[in-house]
Amino acid sequence: MTCKDVEKMIPLFLRDELDTEDLREFMEHMDKCEECKEELSIQFLVLEGLARLESGSVFDLQNELKYRMEEAEHTLKMRESMQNILYAMEGLVVVAAITLIALLFVLF
Ligand SMILES: [Zn+2]
Repeated sequence: MTCKDVEKMIPLFLRDELDTEDLREFMEHMDKCEECKEELSIQFLVLEGLARLESGSVFDLQNELKYRMEEAEHTLKMRESMQNILYAMEGLVVVAAITLIALLFVLF
């Protein structure tokens, strides 16, 4: 994923609209790339700052972004472990089906 790709994803990230795969790549890139982190921080401040100006509560946005990144990390982990559980369950269903078929052959 290039910086250009990531830049395009920033608004989606801020609206929480990235799917698991994109979110993972996005977070990985943010981990390594200072430039994109800077860009994210700017877009966040502009977007949230404007929204807050209207409601009159502009405070500690920088910290809030940090919090949001941590939350995204958490969401990503949750989604990934959910996916793993789903895969495991699919595996179990297949095993159960095979066992059942084998049993039927043995019994009849
Ligand atoms: Zn970058």
